Amino acid sequence: MLLPTFDYYEPSSLKEACEVMTELGSRARLLAGGTDLIVNMKKKIISPEHVVALGRLEALKKTDATNGTVKIGALMTAAEIAESAALGQQFSALRQAASSLGSPLIRNLATIAGNLVSARPAADLPPSLMAYGARLIIKKKDGERKILLEDFIKGPGDTELAPEEILAEIEIDRAPGYSGASYIKLGTRKALEISLVNVASFITLEAPDGVITSARIVMGAVGPTPLRAPSAEKILVGEKPSVRLFERAGRAAAEESRPIDDFRGSAQYRRDMVDVLTRRALAAALQEARRQ
Ligand SMILES: Cc1cc2nc3c(=O)[nH]c(=O)nc-3n(C[C@H](O)[C@H](O)[C@H](O)COP(=O)(O)OP(=O)(O)OC[C@H]3O[C@@H](n4cnc5c(N)ncnc54)[C@H](O)[C@@H]3O)c2cc1C
Repeated sequence: MLLPTFDYYEPSSLKEACEVMTELGSRARLLAGGTDLIVNMKKKIISPEHVVALGRLEALKKTDATNGTVKIGALMTAAEIAESAALGQQFSALRQAASSLGSPLIRNLATIAGNLVSARPAADLPPSLMAYGARLIIKKKDGERKILLEDFIKGPGDTELAPEEILAEIEIDRAPGYSGASYIKLGTRKALEISLVNVASFITLEAPDGVITSARIVMGAVGPTPLRAPSAEKILVGEKPSVRLFERAGRAAAEESRPIDDFRGSAQYRRDMVDVLTRRALAAALQEARRQ
């Protein structure tokens, strides 16, 4: 399959990239790893007149930790995130998610920004980042804004990003002591598989044997966007962790999911799997919280 013709730009700074995007607007598309964009262009799903490659923006290829906040550059690849010891220690669920994305070849190309902006309902990185309460730093020629990831994804392939805006960094606060998180993906194959269902969990304990003081559960591939499970979270907060409690939370999360039937699995199967994965993800998060 051949690519349609387009003009190609390679800005050397974020400032220049913002200026180019202001000038070209919706006639242009940003190119990061290309694992979504190039595939969609080859299939003629989109045919931008201009492609603006971000590959020379070295400033967006690193992480930065200051004052209890970690900033992840938009161009960090899934492989870099999966291998980052610094990120893995603090954000193990994100590392688990990055390790399970696609294949080694795809992970070497796929960036965190591309994964968030392409807004696929089954994408691997949004659930764990939402569970950690991640915020996005978005730049344009005349300014910058921050938005919660939770408020960013509007529907399949649809986000709050305006055509001239660039996602520059993903910001996550360091979790308080006695916090733990986990990400579990279920596919029909072991590798190179889009999630049938995925669940990310995050909990904070008062003390290693104390009650849960905060909880977030995020379910992927069971709705048009990754979904929080507020009733399940409410069941957990203020309670001591136990198998029974996690079973109640799992059932509540399953009820809050909005799966569809398709050739890869029935809605009922997906709902049942939300229940199972939620319990497992909470048990794994608890283990990590007690080790902190
Ligand atoms: C074979 C295969 C297997 C895959 N398996 C998985 C999987 O298991 N799990 C999964 O989640 N995904 C999977 N994907 C999808 C894909 O790899 C990811 O969504 C990837 O993270 C996209 O990142 P990218 O850097 O390649 O984005 P690109 O393709 O470069 O861009 C994707 C979109 O994001 C926009 N964009 C990119 N960077 C920015 C930015 N900084 N600011 C604003 N907009 C931006 C682009 O304009 C484009 O619209 C798979 C894809 C393929 C081809």
